[in-house]
Order: sequence, then C-alpha cells, then structure tokens
Amino acid sequence: MRTKNPDVVVVGAGIAGASVAAVLARGGLEVLLLERQRAYRDRVRGEYMAPWGVLEARAAGLETVIRGARAVDARYNVPYDELVAPSAAEAARGDASTILPFAGLRSIPAARGLGGATAAGPCATFSGEQTWCEEPYADGVVLLGDAGGYDDPVDGQGLSLAMRDVRQLSELLLATGDWTVAALRPYGQQRAERLRRMRRVSRTFAALMTTFTADGRARRNRYDTASAARREDVRLALGAIHLGPDRLPTEAFSDQLHESLLT
Ligand SMILES: Cc1cc2nc3c(=O)[nH]c(=O)nc-3n(C[C@H](O)[C@H](O)[C@H](O)COP(=O)(O)OP(=O)(O)OC[C@H]3O[C@@H](n4cnc5c(N)ncnc54)[C@H](O)[C@@H]3O)c2cc1C
Repeated sequence: MRTKNPDVVVVGAGIAGASVAAVLARGGLEVLLLERQRAYRDRVRGEYMAPWGVLEARAAGLETVIRGARAVDARYNVPYDELVAPSAAEAARGDASTILPFAGLRSIPAARGLGGATAAGPCATFSGEQTWCEEPYADGVVLLGDAGGYDDPVDGQGLSLAMRDVRQLSELLLATGDWTVAALRPYGQQRAERLRRMRRVSRTFAALMTTFTADGRARRNRYDTASAARREDVRLALGAIHLGPDRLPTEAFSDQLHESLLT
C-alpha cells in the first residue's frame, strides 16, 4: 500500500506485521507496511497454529484469510518418539476434538502418506532460546510478534502469540488512537505476563520432549504414562499449549507445579 501521510508505519511483513497492518487499515487508518525482503523465502517455520491462536485470529477478523491460504484443520495429535512406535501411538491416539470442542477440527488429509515420507536432505536446526522485554513500547512506537520477544519454538506458540498481540494492540489503537507510553502500558504488562506463562510451559515441554539421556527417557516414559492416564497435573501444566495463557488458573504456570512434573 502506498500512502504519503500514513497514520501508522509497520516495519516487517511477517505474520505479526502484515496482520496488524491489515486490521488497522480495515479500521480506517492509513498504513504503510515496509518489508525488507523482496522475495518470499520459506524457512519452514510457523507451520502449526494452536487452537487458541485460531480463536485469536477469528477475533481479529483474520481467520478467513488464514483458511484461504490452504489451512488444514488437525483433529488428531499423535506424538511418538524412540519410546513409542508410530503404530502404537496411532492406536492410542486421542481425539483432540473432545478436549477442544470449540475449534471444530477435522483430521489431516494424507497424514499417512506424510508419515511414510523420507527425508530429502539434511535436517535444519534451530536454537531453543527464549527472549523478552518488559516494556515493548515507547511514545509512538510499539513492538509486537517476535520483535518484542519470542518463545522457544518447541511447542509452536509463536503464531498464536503474534495473533494475540495483533488483536490486543489493534483494539487499543483503533479505540483510542493514543500512542503514548501511558496508553500502551496495559498492552506491555499483559504481554509480559502471557510470555512469562508460555515460557514456563515451553521450558517444561522442552525438558520433557528433548532430553535424550537415559534419565530424560525415563522421565518421558513417566510423563507418557501420566498423560495417557489423563492426570490432572499434566493437563494443567501443558494445557496452555492448546488453550493459551488465559484460560487456565494461575497455578497452571507455577514453578511448583512444573518442577513436580519434571522430577
Ligand atoms: C524452526 C521454527 C519453527 C517454528 N514453528 C512454529 C509453529 O509450528 N507454530 C508457531 O506458532 N510458531 C512457530 N514458530 C515461531 C513463529 O514462526 C514466529 O513466532 C512467527 O513467525 C513470528 O512472526 P513475526 O511476524 O513476529 O516475525 P517474522 O516472521 O520473523 O517476520 C518479521 C519480518 O520483518 C522483516 N524485517 C525484519 N527487519 C526489518 C527491517 N528492518 N525492515 C523491514 N523489514 C524487516 C523480516 O524480513 C520478516 O519478513 C517457529 C519458529 C521457528 C524458528
């Protein structure tokens, strides 16, 4: 979009920047969206959006656009590793629609074919760090998406967190038009808390799923058993991966609960 006198300049047309630009433009603001890459480069990241992120996208009026980009609803989640063979995992799979009835999910087409695929090249790797800032704003400037801090991608929360930023920030800016620190502070405070909560969850998830020592495997085995038994502490500690940072009680994000799951 070209405009000589924009109300808002958005730097970066990733999912966060492009989405907030679209929502603000729909809300009547003149938006200039700047992107440094001239050609799209697929880096195989952000392939999965959690159910709570889809709801955020729906609330921001972006769900139709996402579905239009050939989105596929996943009804089943069948995790397997060196402890659980794919066939055993498939036999024991849970129907995610019973815990996520609001999402109206369908199963992935051609999932069996994907499971039988062979690697075409070396695996890409990514580092699992977490970054954040307590005050992602100054007068007239605000950060959203990964620019304001990102979580370890191990549990796939970045797109959903970006959608939440987009929704909260666009609601705030369209309602008040106020870009002062005072107006942006609630956004910064709530964002810091949701990132803190999701960091707690992803640390636990990463420790459980990506510790490939004998102790780590034994712990994962205990976790698999507890998970299959639908133990309440497991559902509480890791439920936010599907439900997001705001639908569970505060104790779901406490160190005490998470450390007890990791012992
Ligand atoms: C390996 C991996 C797997 C992941 N898998 C998932 C997943 O399955 N599910 C999930 O929810 N999340 C996942 N994530 C996280 C998710 O991809 C990110 O959180 C999300 O893409 C962030 O979107 P964004 O728009 O904030 O940033 P980006 O997608 O990084 O977009 C930023 C944009 O800004 C542009 N830009 C940067 N600087 C400038 C500048 N100075 N001027 C102009 N343009 C600029 C960049 O070119 C880029 O286009 C994964 C991350 C990784 C690393």
